[in-house]
Amino acid sequence: MKKIIVIGGGIAGLTAGIYALLDGYDVTLYEKNTFPGGECTGWNRRGYHIDNCIHWLTGCNPKDDLYQIWRTTGMIDDGIELYYEPCFYCLEADGMALHFWCDIEKARQEFLAVAPEDREEINRFFDSVRMAESVRVPCEKSLAQMNLAEYIRFGMSMSEMGKVVKEYGKDTIEDLAGRFHNPYIREMMRRYLDVSCKAVALISSYGFYTGANAAIPMGGSVGMAQRITKRFQELGGKLCTGMAAEKIEVSHEKAQRILFADGSTVNCDFVICAVDPAVTFGQLLERKYMDRNLRKMYGDKAGYRVFSTFHVSFGIDGEEDYGIGGGSIVFPCEKFNVGEQEIDYLSVRIYDYDRTLFPKDRRVIQCNIRQDEADYAYWCKIYGKKEEYCAQKERIAEEVRTRIEQHYPGLRDRLILLDTYSPMTLSKWCGAYKGSFMSFFEQKGYKSLTAKNSIKGLANVFLASQWLTTNGGLPAAATSGKFAVMEIKKRCHFDTVS
Ligand SMILES: Cc1cc2nc3c(=O)[nH]c(=O)nc-3n(C[C@H](O)[C@H](O)[C@H](O)COP(=O)(O)OP(=O)(O)OC[C@H]3O[C@@H](n4cnc5c(N)ncnc54)[C@H](O)[C@@H]3O)c2cc1C
Repeated sequence: MKKIIVIGGGIAGLTAGIYALLDGYDVTLYEKNTFPGGECTGWNRRGYHIDNCIHWLTGCNPKDDLYQIWRTTGMIDDGIELYYEPCFYCLEADGMALHFWCDIEKARQEFLAVAPEDREEINRFFDSVRMAESVRVPCEKSLAQMNLAEYIRFGMSMSEMGKVVKEYGKDTIEDLAGRFHNPYIREMMRRYLDVSCKAVALISSYGFYTGANAAIPMGGSVGMAQRITKRFQELGGKLCTGMAAEKIEVSHEKAQRILFADGSTVNCDFVICAVDPAVTFGQLLERKYMDRNLRKMYGDKAGYRVFSTFHVSFGIDGEEDYGIGGGSIVFPCEKFNVGEQEIDYLSVRIYDYDRTLFPKDRRVIQCNIRQDEADYAYWCKIYGKKEEYCAQKERIAEEVRTRIEQHYPGLRDRLILLDTYSPMTLSKWCGAYKGSFMSFFEQKGYKSLTAKNSIKGLANVFLASQWLTTNGGLPAAATSGKFAVMEIKKRCHFDTVS
């Protein structure tokens, strides 16, 4: 049995491990933290649960090829109920509410009632969302490995999406907002991630909801991480936690040994680096091995932006309704500063849909404030000055509390501060580049890119990570793990026949 070492126990590394075990390899996974899961995690504070990751899992529709990957890895299984949120997100402003309902006709009618003057654009937008339901993540082969014919075939399988790209392919979110006259609809559009991102990102994400392809498995992020870990171990995978890889020793165009922070070493036939490529090529291997597309993404800051978050979570004391809706809600607020930015809208999310994690008297409100590279630099600068860092976190938590209470007066004196974290946290916890939660978002005029799972000049080292492709997320992480193993199989086959 050939021996594969996986470095990194996030969803990419665990998926790679499972596919490798199913193909008969001997697999040992090394994770630097004391438990696996990476960014897909959650934790308890003051008797409440904070779910860090899963807002939506794409590929919950059995017709989507991703579904098979979730089943194979155990992230979804028969015993796990899926929760389909009624709406993607909602804007509450000046006493009115606009929803991106999953029921697309209900959403269309709501928008038309608010802005009859925008009838044509509204219809064009919702028709496009319907067409975007055909969007699929490549699951059989990485885009980076496809030849032209395969690439065209894959594109054709999402034929309807071609029309959406034709209409909105050149638009940013800001351009999309600008198509509407109604100020509420403009704000609704502008609240998706960042106005510099591409309009098709919003349309296709919303399409995952309307196409019943995005849901939340009960048990949340922790449940998913635990199930995939269990599956990995049941298949015979060996898991070594608290083991930070420091270096991969290379000679004769092959990885020979892996060195760990505790001074131990391990030999292997193959290595899968399932950590952020910034760690792989900044620490484990020399940068010269970095793939061309990865260089572009990490190197071109104007073309490929990353976003992180400042997180504040509160427990809600009591079981009453308090007039709050459900799901993800955005609303205007009094201005305040977070990092280098002035914030004038809050985006909150109510966690009340999973009785195993959030019983009625243990509901949670999370507020994730989007941060960018400039903000990350700010947090890096004050991270070393403990007092200032903590004071900023406390101030922001109180500013957020006040604004939530202003928006939902029923919550006054009902919010229990559970936790705050800055972009530094994910960077320290997972080695996430600039503390980001997803990978790169390509900007107007820049292409979506995917990097290869293999490394030129190294015969036995492979890559798996959400960072191999723009946009990232759990589907990108999981498929990258599967593709890394396919490349190892190809290499073994080549070695056998040559
Ligand atoms: C707040 C938030 C919300 C999100 N919401 C969603 C969502 O709704 N839907 C969605 O699809 N995705 C979501 N994501 C993204 C999703 O969590 C990630 O795409 C995915 O978890 C990334 O997996 P990964 O394995 O590529 O990377 P990671 O999770 O970063 O895993 C890398 C692992 O490598 C380990 N490691 C690093 N360095 C070393 C080393 N030297 N030696 C050994 N181990 C090392 C790390 O500790 C980590 O466990 C969200 C993320 C965040 C943070």
